[in-house]
Parts: sequence; structure tokens; C-alpha cells
Amino acid sequence: MATMLPLTDSHGRTKRKLRISLTDRCNFRCTYCMPERPDWLPRASLLERHEVLRLAGIFVDQGIGSIRLTGGEPLLRRDLLACVEDLSSLRARGLERLSMTTNASRIASLAGRLVRAGVDDFNVSLDAVDADVFRRMTRREAGPVFDGIDALVAEGAKVKLNAVVVRGENDDQVLPLLGWAMRRGLPLRFIEYMPLDAPGHWHRDEVVSEAEIVDAIRGHHRIERQARGNDPATPYLVDGDYPLGIISTVSQPFCSTCDRLRITATGELFTCLFSATGTPLGARMREGADDDALQALVRQAVWLKDAGYASRPGPVDRATTMHAMGG
Ligand code: SAM
Ligand code: SF4
Repeated sequence: MATMLPLTDSHGRTKRKLRISLTDRCNFRCTYCMPERPDWLPRASLLERHEVLRLAGIFVDQGIGSIRLTGGEPLLRRDLLACVEDLSSLRARGLERLSMTTNASRIASLAGRLVRAGVDDFNVSLDAVDADVFRRMTRREAGPVFDGIDALVAEGAKVKLNAVVVRGENDDQVLPLLGWAMRRGLPLRFIEYMPLDAPGHWHRDEVVSEAEIVDAIRGHHRIERQARGNDPATPYLVDGDYPLGIISTVSQPFCSTCDRLRITATGELFTCLFSATGTPLGARMREGADDDALQALVRQAVWLKDAGYASRPGPVDRATTMHAMGG
């Protein structure tokens, strides 16, 4: 149970969701996220399983109800199942939902065990249905991802698809992806390309905006905008009943309702995806800080969270990459 007042920042936004990056390592090299030859964080600096659980508990005790495991690629953690079981035990302290964001390429043999260990839902990144476009964007093959999605569906898992749209790379995939997802009955969210790629090649012209995505769909389907909730995606209904989301961080930032926090694979707390600096909870923990001291660091960092991307759009100058922080 939460032992304190909720985590609220000075702009009045209460934090309900935490993303935990379990590793910066990834078996893919998506061009909008990773360089071809990344410099990985030193292995010894990555949080160990018991450290992940301890930090997560500190957030749950302060009102975080939802945890999403991400990376890098969370499936590269050898102790992933044990991590999930650990975190699932936090339900007794108030955790309501445990989710995972994955490229799914290594999930086929693990899908059932992950569901049974406590993962409530999965977001799977799928940027193209065309094999050549997929290969160009991820520098890897699409086959294992489709196998992974099939395995999750066969296990009865709740699955959502995420597609980052980059002009000149996969903007021709908007309709094929939508058609594929509608036929499978899997909700899809398009994500505007954000200035967070580790190579730093992002350019505003490559962002395909929410309005452009809607226009591309409108010629072929009935698409109606729905009332916005707490989710970062603008909800739409396509052809009357299919739920589509569009996350428009660049063209229409939703910072004023942001309820998320993030910790990197080394336990650095970032109160915004676009913050230039973080709070080194992992390092303080290893220096011997007790739970009260860590809670105080979290509360202070959250209180000082600034207005967000809306107040300072564009690339961020920092060493921490998207694959270390998790999207
Ligand atoms: N490897 C897992 C995956 O790809 O789903 C989890 C980590 S990945 C960093 C989390 C999410 O961030 C993915 O949905 C990915 O598409 C998204 N992402 C990465 N770089 C991005 C960028 N520059 N702009 C928008 N989304 C991005
Ligand atoms: Fe890996 Fe995910 Fe980044 Fe692609 S988006 S390189 S799968 S961490």
C-alpha cells in the first residue's frame, strides 16, 4: 500500500506510471533509435535483479500503480522471468499493472511463461509489414517478430502494436500496417519520430505528423477522433470500431497531463523522456542510501520536473540514449 502522499510535481501532475529499462542491450538496430555499433553501458553498472525490485518498490509505495518493462530489449535479460515474478509480488503493495515493451523477436518460446509470471500486457514494436522496409528500418529480419506476435496471441496475451513513422523510410507502411492490424484484431499506435535517436540524425522534416497520418488513412477508411483520456495517444475509431492511437509528441505534445517516470538500466531517474539530466538512484543505492533517503531523492526530482518537451522542443544534449532509457 502507498505509505505517503502521491508523487506530484510543482505543475500539479501526479505520477502513476513508471518505466524501467532492464538493459541498454538490444539485438535490433532500429535506425531511429540505435547506431549500428552502439557503445554499451558497462555490464557491472546495470541494475541487478534485487536492485530493480528495491527501486520499483520505492515507487510503488509512493503511488505508482503501473510499471512497464522496457530497454534496450528486455528479452535479452537472462533473469527476465525472475524479474517479472519479483515485480509481480509488488501487487501486494499496490501495483495494479505490469507491462512490457518489446521487439518480440525472442518472445516465441517465452510467451506463456511471461504471461504466467505476471506480465499483464505487451506492446510490440512493428514498423512495417513489408519485409524489405522492416529490414531497412531495424537492420534485422521481420519473421521472428511475426512468430513472436503469433505466440503471444496464442497464449491469450493482451497485445498492442507500436509503429514509429519516419518519412522516406516507412511512411508507405501506414495503410499496410493498419490493414494487417485490423485483420488480426490487434490495436495499433503510430508514433511520431522523436529527436531521441542515438546517432542524432533526427530532422523535423522526417517527422510524419498525426495530421498527415490521419490524412493518409482518410482516403481509404472512415476515421473519427475520440475524446482524449490519460493515454499519450490520441484515440481514433477506424471504420466504426477499430481502435487506433497516434502518439504525437512532436506536433502536439501532451506534457501537461504527463503521469510518467522512467528509470534507466543503471537506475538513473528521468522525470521526462527529454530531460537533459537524471537523478542517480542506482549509484546512491550502491553507496548505501537507505529507502528513506532514496524516497526523498525521488520526491525532490519529481517536484522539480519541468514543463516538458512542449516548453523546449527539439533534440536534447545528453549522453543517455533512448535505448538506455527505454521509450
Ligand atoms: N526494444 C523494445 C522495443 O523496441 O519495443 C523496447 C525499447 S524501445 C526504445 C521502446 C519504444 O521506443 C519502441 O516502441 C520504439 O519504437 C520507440 N522508439 C525508439 N526510438 C524512438 C524515436 N526516436 N522516436 C519515437 N519512438 C522511438
Ligand atoms: Fe532495440 Fe527497441 Fe531501439 Fe529497436 S527501438 S533498436 S528494438 S531498443
